[in-house]
Amino acid sequence: APTPAPITGDAASAPKPSRSARTKRGRLSVVIPFYNEGPNIAALFERLVPVLDRLDAEWEVVCVNDGSRDDTLDRLLDVHDADPRVKVVDLSRNFGKELALSAGLRHTTGDAVVPMDADLQHPPELLPQFLAKWREGYDVVVAVRHARVGQSLKHRAFARAFYWIFDNLSEVKLPREVGDFRLMDRRVVDVINRMPERTRFMKGIFAWVGFRQASIPYQQGERAGGDTKWGFLKLLSLSFDGLTAFSTFPLRVWSLVGMAISGFAFVYILLRLLRTLIYGIDVPGYESLLAAVLFMGGIQLVTLGVIGDYLGRVFNEVKGRPLYIVRSAHGFEDEAAAPAS
Ligand code: UDP
Ligand code: MG
Repeated sequence: APTPAPITGDAASAPKPSRSARTKRGRLSVVIPFYNEGPNIAALFERLVPVLDRLDAEWEVVCVNDGSRDDTLDRLLDVHDADPRVKVVDLSRNFGKELALSAGLRHTTGDAVVPMDADLQHPPELLPQFLAKWREGYDVVVAVRHARVGQSLKHRAFARAFYWIFDNLSEVKLPREVGDFRLMDRRVVDVINRMPERTRFMKGIFAWVGFRQASIPYQQGERAGGDTKWGFLKLLSLSFDGLTAFSTFPLRVWSLVGMAISGFAFVYILLRLLRTLIYGIDVPGYESLLAAVLFMGGIQLVTLGVIGDYLGRVFNEVKGRPLYIVRSAHGFEDEAAAPAS
C-alpha cells in the first residue's frame, strides 16, 4: 500500500482543511467486521453495492471475518468470487469488534475509509453524503444518530452514565451519539494504523486523533437480523477498557482519598488526646479502632486492585503480541505483504 509522508504535529493540528492537496475523487474503502452475520450478508451487499456503484469513485469493501462460527466466511468468499472489489480478511479466531476493525483498517488502500457494521444498522445510503463532505475538505465525517433504535432503556441509561464519567475523567471528549460509522481521510487512517496500543477503544482513539470534522445526522436502523453481540457484561468491560486507556484518574484518586482520611484521622487523634488528658483513660473505644482498621484495609485493597488492573494492562502491552492474526486474506494485490498484525 502506498504510504503517504508521515504527518508532523503541525500538520495534524492545522485548523483549516487543505483544499488544494489533491483532487479528492480518490478511492473509497469500506471496512466491515463480521461475527456470525451469515443471514445478513446477502441483504447487506444487495443494498451496499448499488450505492457504491453510483458513487463517482472507485471502491473496495474490506470484509473482516472475526472468527465467525456460522457460514459467514463461505458467504463472504462467494461474494468475493463474484466481485473481486469485495475483499476478505479471515482472522484466526474471534478477536472482538475493535481488533477486527483495526485489522480491516490496516488492509485498506483507499484515500477515504468508512467503517460500517454488517447488520445494516448503518445505512449505506449515507455514503454519497460522506464523500461530498470529504471532497469539501474535511478529514473526518461522522454520522450522528438521531435516535438509538433497538436498544433497551438499561442500555441507554448505561451509555449516558458512561459518557458522563468518561468526559469528567479523561482529557478527550467523546462526541455523543457518534459511533464507528464515519468517513476518515487516508491521513487519519494512517495515524490510527500506527497506534501500537492493544486496548483499542476505537471511540476514544477516533476522538483522540482529532483532525477537521464534519457531521451528518442519520437515523440508525434496526438490526437486519440476528442479535446484538454486546451483552451487558461485554459493554461494562468495554467501558472499563475505555476509561483506563484514556484516563489515569483511577490511579491518582487514591492519593486524594488517602490525604482526606489522614486529615480526618489527625483531627480525631487530637480530639482523643485532649479527651484523655481531661478525663483520663477510658477503656472503651474498641469499635472505633476496629472500624478504622477495616475501613483502611478496604481502601488499600481497592487501591491495590486498581494498580493491579493498570499493571495488567501494561503487562499486556509490553508483551507486544500481535493485535490479531490473519489466517488468510483474499483479494489483496500482494497477499504476502498484507500486514499480519
Ligand atoms: N462484531 C465483530 N466481532 C465481535 C462482535 C461484533 O466483528 O466480536 C461485528 C458485528 O458482526 C457487527 C458489528 O461488529 O458487524 C457490530 O456488532 P453488533 O451489531 O452486535 O453491535 P451493536 O450494533 O449492537 O453495537
Ligand atoms: Mg448492530
